[in-house]
Amino acid sequence: MTLAYIGLGANLGDAQVALLQAADELAQMPGTEQFELSPLYRSAPIDSSGPDYINAVASFDTVLTARQLLLALQDIEQRHGRLRPYRNAPRTLDLDLLLFGDQNIQEPDLIVPHPRMHERAFVLRPLSDLSPGLILAQGPVAALLAACSDQALARIP
Ligand code: ADP
Ligand code: MG
Repeated sequence: MTLAYIGLGANLGDAQVALLQAADELAQMPGTEQFELSPLYRSAPIDSSGPDYINAVASFDTVLTARQLLLALQDIEQRHGRLRPYRNAPRTLDLDLLLFGDQNIQEPDLIVPHPRMHERAFVLRPLSDLSPGLILAQGPVAALLAACSDQALARIP
């Protein structure tokens, strides 16, 4: 089993619903154990446009390989992505493989740890909710989060 962390994001009308459904689908995957979902957060789009994003992080043990997990994530994205109303529309659902055990993967279509996670409050905050003591290559999650305190983030009750 490998401990995986997934970043979930969505920014269309039913973003919260899409996110919770996706979390459910991750939890139901064969070979998923110890599934946990962070609280949900609302954030302003950073490299995207449109309405605010809803973000969360999920963690679980999986029997899948990193590549199998990426394919499963893309499968879930695609099922939710069918609601996209026009080309380059804001994402209905984005699932990123953040961490996969202590594996370091550098392939054209799969980079783990996720290359931008250490500078994004909408990843670091829910990540630190799940694993406050986690240490990334760039430093402790708590310190990295403190360094991006300028990025507004609201916890959804
Ligand atoms: P974003 O980088 O903003 O999440 P996309 O969700 O459109 O953009 O992903 C684009 C590509 O990123 C995918 O085709 C996927 O192969 C690649 N990719 C590379 N590393 C990862 C990762 N760790 N998790 C998810 N996708 C990844
Ligand atoms: Mg993505």
